[in-house]
Amino acid sequence: YFISFEGPDGAGKSTVLEHVVAKIAPLIKTQYLVTREPGGSQIAEKIRQIILDPDNEKISAKTEALLYAAARSQHMAETIIPALKAGKIVFSDRFVDSSLAYQGVGRNLGISAIKEINDFATSKIEPNLTIFLDIEPKVGLARIAKNRSIKVDRLDQEELVFHQKVYHGYLKLIQENPVRIKIVDAQKPLNQVVQACAKIIINSLPK
Ligand code: C5P
Repeated sequence: YFISFEGPDGAGKSTVLEHVVAKIAPLIKTQYLVTREPGGSQIAEKIRQIILDPDNEKISAKTEALLYAAARSQHMAETIIPALKAGKIVFSDRFVDSSLAYQGVGRNLGISAIKEINDFATSKIEPNLTIFLDIEPKVGLARIAKNRSIKVDRLDQEELVFHQKVYHGYLKLIQENPVRIKIVDAQKPLNQVVQACAKIIINSLPK
């Protein structure tokens, strides 16, 4: 059973995922695996370093999209598919929806082009369940700024516009996949967010 966590920057995905797994681990008998993107395998983590390296700011949107897809392909082959075949529950911090929202909509490459390269990378294996941690881009970016002690009014306007586009991309994906993607309000206190996610997961796991 394959579960992905999605959301805008500053939604708290990694923290929420960690707490959710700790909460439900004692309740399930099945083995599980927690992984993340971009990354989740040695080669994919190396590709992550290329993508996230500030020295590579000249990277073109298409190159970036292909690197995300390449990292994902390796992540599937080495980590996700073997775990699913072994009957494990896989939790992934981000998956294809991130590329559709960030590269497809945020970077204007189009959802259909990004879907095509990712269908190739994943052989069309999709999460059974996706949790979207919903936070307004402005609030998410303000959380990140606070963590880095940057003043909120200094938030880069261009960055905000980009993240608003990403957010609208996610909303479109939610509309198109109302069964797979469940929305959780990530602006609530952490324990409530964790509780809401755990409930959705427990209810959706095969009995
Ligand atoms: O998951 P996390 O928030 O740590 O992602 C790291 C960075 O990569 C974020 O700043 C996010 O905006 C960016 N990202 C991206 N396109 C993706 C996935 C992540 O631009 N497909």
